[in-house]
Amino acid sequence: MSLPDLAELELPELEAMVATLGVGPFRARQIYRWLYRRGLDGVEGMTDLSLALRQRLRTEVRCSTPRLAKQERSTDGTQKFLLELSDGKTLESVFIPDTPSMTFCISTQVGCAMRCGFCLTGQMGLTRHLSAGEIAGQVRVLARELDLSDRKFNIVLMGMGEPLHNYDATMKALRMLAAPEGLGLTPRRVTLSTVGLIPALERLATEAWVPNLAVSLHATTDELRHKLIPTSRTQRLEDLMAVCRRFPLKHRERITFEYVLLDGVNDLDADARRLAGLLGALPAKVNLIPLNPAPGIPFARPSDSRVSRFAAALARRGVRVSVRKSRGQDIRAACGQLIVEGGPRRSAGQHAAEELS
Ligand code: SF4
Repeated sequence: MSLPDLAELELPELEAMVATLGVGPFRARQIYRWLYRRGLDGVEGMTDLSLALRQRLRTEVRCSTPRLAKQERSTDGTQKFLLELSDGKTLESVFIPDTPSMTFCISTQVGCAMRCGFCLTGQMGLTRHLSAGEIAGQVRVLARELDLSDRKFNIVLMGMGEPLHNYDATMKALRMLAAPEGLGLTPRRVTLSTVGLIPALERLATEAWVPNLAVSLHATTDELRHKLIPTSRTQRLEDLMAVCRRFPLKHRERITFEYVLLDGVNDLDADARRLAGLLGALPAKVNLIPLNPAPGIPFARPSDSRVSRFAAALARRGVRVSVRKSRGQDIRAACGQLIVEGGPRRSAGQHAAEELS
């Protein structure tokens, strides 16, 4: 029988677990702080627990933590972390230092089932979901390695995978990170990026803890969107936009719409006009992402002038728009460039290592 895994437990679960050892909830809070704020991944260093309790925990629990296999640093300060999970699967997480504050870009799956045509992860397919502990574990490892456990940083769920396709583990990981005894993460510091799975979006709208929302649109007609995001074939843009309009937003909050610009495919004036029309009066901002070309991706990046023209066409129609700056290209940490080498197939996080401005 496998031992209970501290890394997979929310605080109330940890309190219940230590109660079975005859230990009060205060000890659970101490353990939680060691894991999240001080970066420990074992009970040995938890010096405010009695020696007897530490010895007992050593034999009765475990704490799975992704192993740091490789760390690379870009000339622009971006850092890419290759992490190995307990079953040997690997993934990449990225630290972006100035976006405008510090940002961790985190994965929610190994691979991705959404099969977006411009994304290497999409070509890989889904290998498996990450557990809540593996999602939160990326944050624990990055915070520990960067010595940021007691600093404020942002988290974007934009690495490998579709967070809403792994809904329960993703939301549990966010609750674990949000606990005051954990990292005390607030919803405004977290952005969840999704292709817009409508039933899951509707569920997200009912949560008590709702992160910022970024919806990957990428097209302004159902026909093109169904080609670029094959798994969107069962839903219509009209329905997706209706869900977005109903999504609960606090004062001054906006939904970010991500739009990868593909040369000659979705970057025409007519696309900009339709995009502005789709957004209408919705509190929104558009993040334009000129494609980072990658081997095997059958699309090209539009010219800078084409990107500027598209952005200007949106701004003219009253849309708040920004162009995402590519980060970490020299270490292949930029959008669409995360590739785990040496695995059975290539993988990449389409959104990673970009400035979410
Ligand atoms: S772009 Fe995002 S949702 Fe689409 S295949 Fe890539 S990782 Fe998955």
